[in-house]
Amino acid sequence: MIDNEAIKAAKRKYNQSTKGKEKRRLWRLSHKEQERIVENRYCQSPKGKAQKQRYSKSEKGRQAQKQYRQTDKRRVSLKRYAQTEKGKAKAIELSRKWRAEHPEQLRAAVKKYQETHKVQIRQHHKERNRQLKLEVLTYYGNGKCACVQCNEKRIDCLSIDHINNNGYEHRKVVGNGSRMYSWLRKNNYPIDYQTLCMNCQFVKRADLLKSR
Ligand SMILES: [Zn+2]
Repeated sequence: MIDNEAIKAAKRKYNQSTKGKEKRRLWRLSHKEQERIVENRYCQSPKGKAQKQRYSKSEKGRQAQKQYRQTDKRRVSLKRYAQTEKGKAKAIELSRKWRAEHPEQLRAAVKKYQETHKVQIRQHHKERNRQLKLEVLTYYGNGKCACVQCNEKRIDCLSIDHINNNGYEHRKVVGNGSRMYSWLRKNNYPIDYQTLCMNCQFVKRADLLKSR
């Protein structure tokens, strides 16, 4: 019968001897990939996890963590983590939590941001409204941002026409310009609207007056 304990003890002794250490060092040098695999496997085992935990709680481990936090390597790794799905979800979760727990600070931060970024915010709204107008006019232009009657394409001449001529009342309710565009999009693009240029709208209005 083989004495397992005796073999294990002999192995341990050999591993700790100079000869064993040297052999391991040489193996590691020529088997980098394998070593990584073996190490990973060990780190994920219960024993490895426990050892990692013990190390990170020890004085030496704490010092090492402190030092690591000051390196660029950590910044890079955090950045890489933030770009993964998991990292993104975590960031959203943390941000939500912080917002819920710090309403006062949040209000102050928003106010400060609005004061220091007036130009950017105005620019952002302008761009958003331009996109909105483009989207709505394209929808009511039957797939292109142009007047449905004369094909005028200059966006500044284009606007939404109320086919049934009830624009005045409608504008009084939902508002003008961006408010109107946003209302149309929010209401899933109801019918009875079309994209017209100002010229075609003037002609339409003149015809209407003539027929009265
Ligand atoms: Zn036109």
